[in-house]
Amino acid sequence: MVGGESEKRKVVVVVGGGVAGALLAKNMQFDADVVLIDPKEYFEIPWACLRSMVEPSFAERILINHTDYLSNGRIITSRATGITESEVFTEDGQTILYDYLVLATGHADPTPRSRKDRLEQFQQADPTPRSRKDRLEQFQQDNATIKSSSSVLIIGGGRMGVELAGEISVDYPEKKVTLIHKGPRLLEFIGAKASNKALKWLKLKGVDVLLEQSVDLDSITEGERVFTTSAGKSVSADCHFVCVGRPLGSTWLQETFLKESLDKSKRLMVDKNLRVKGRRNIFAIGDITDIHEIKLGYLAQDQAAVVAKNLKLLLKGGRESKLATYKPAPAMAVVSLGRKRGVAQLPFTAISGRLPGMFKSKDLFVGRTRKMMGVGPRVV
Ligand SMILES: Cc1cc2nc3c(=O)[nH]c(=O)nc-3n(C[C@H](O)[C@H](O)[C@H](O)COP(=O)(O)OP(=O)(O)OC[C@H]3O[C@@H](n4cnc5c(N)ncnc54)[C@H](O)[C@@H]3O)c2cc1C
Repeated sequence: MVGGESEKRKVVVVVGGGVAGALLAKNMQFDADVVLIDPKEYFEIPWACLRSMVEPSFAERILINHTDYLSNGRIITSRATGITESEVFTEDGQTILYDYLVLATGHADPTPRSRKDRLEQFQQADPTPRSRKDRLEQFQQDNATIKSSSSVLIIGGGRMGVELAGEISVDYPEKKVTLIHKGPRLLEFIGAKASNKALKWLKLKGVDVLLEQSVDLDSITEGERVFTTSAGKSVSADCHFVCVGRPLGSTWLQETFLKESLDKSKRLMVDKNLRVKGRRNIFAIGDITDIHEIKLGYLAQDQAAVVAKNLKLLLKGGRESKLATYKPAPAMAVVSLGRKRGVAQLPFTAISGRLPGMFKSKDLFVGRTRKMMGVGPRVV
């Protein structure tokens, strides 16, 4: 028989519509029957959410409905809850068969929230606003909270806490910002020189940075305005944002046959072709993998490109020896400090000021990412 049923297209299921999964689904949609599973109806550019908290209209460009770039695929707006060697199960009770599976569930929780909001979110089955409209509304609410507060406490001095402190101190210089971090230096994922440059800049902006101190999140009550640190210091703040403990999106895999493929940090162990070790038809990309490099979106996109190439080869019946390989990247990252400045970790040094700011801080790679996703630079 020529054509027809004997040439039924293979099903590629992508779990997670974040930076890596969304791009992969887009790139595969005309080569296979693509199914994208994500609890949200939209793809969010995660590193641009902090700007959206001080300028909610910015969020219009960072939230892209999955339907805008995936015209030839099936979108399931639900959370994956389990898998077998040929099926994925979702929270809303669906079972989806796959020929190839790509796991891209990076992080489960994209945004800084107040302690109360976080508790409420995690008590819900689905912590992230499902619709783009609700997410836009959330940015409006965050902005209203910041605007109506004279003082803001940020808990956690990783990239999320530091970038949020930068955004608030630049856009609202009259507000008292305190940043508490339990480690000995900010931005521990990059070098000490870069950390010190960020610390110096924040202090110059009047941000009170308290290192080697923490706040017991469980002790924070609703409407709390005085926070006691582990060192016994009292910090007054009209509102607070928790920027610690972003959960990795691999919890749902821990009860599946892939639990043996998770390393000590609960990341999926992959081979050089980005297949889950020992699996021939299951790939993993992005922050969820155990690749030894800084976890970054542009690297997750590079991994999506490698896997798209590999899937296309396998779908055409190509030889496994021809699979493309992924090489871990050298340490390079830019942390934005408000709208014009930044600090960059380069392979052998760190720089700060306007140069890294020009690279990232103005548009936060939003135009570039929208282009990559095949949508226009502006929302029409
Ligand atoms: C403040 C900050 C600044 C950053 N700055 C930069 C930068 O300048 N440049 C850069 O390249 N990178 C930057 N990053 C890193 C970048 O955001 C991540 O590396 C990137 O988002 C990883 O992509 P991912 O697809 O692996 O995961 P994510 O983008 O986290 O996407 C995961 C997706 O999986 C979904 N998901 C989770 N669980 C499930 C489930 N059970 N079922 C179905 N779907 C699920 C989520 O809803 C989400 O859509 C920054 C990160 C932060 C926090």
